[in-house]
Amino acid sequence: MRVVKPAVVECKKCLHLIVIEDIDLDMVATYERNMGAEIEYKDEQKFVCDKCNAEISMKISVWEYPEGAINYVLIESDDISVIENPVLSCYDEFDQF
Ligand SMILES: [Zn+2]
Repeated sequence: MRVVKPAVVECKKCLHLIVIEDIDLDMVATYERNMGAEIEYKDEQKFVCDKCNAEISMKISVWEYPEGAINYVLIESDDISVIENPVLSCYDEFDQF
């Protein structure tokens, strides 16, 4: 999974914008659906806000369905607000589209 556009989140404590470029997704589940397999990926991140040092933990979930297409991206966290979801690609290079 490649990050085409990073996620942008906002620290709830100080409203500082944080760009998340490193998203390291692990496959956690697959579901058999009528168009093939649906694959669920997850990444859990913990870091501190570089402005106010608040501890931030967030969970990024991605569902790929049908194969090769990102169906849904969900960021869950009590510590940040999501400004922009990341844009992800199942392919490593643009020319494979
Ligand atoms: Zn902050």
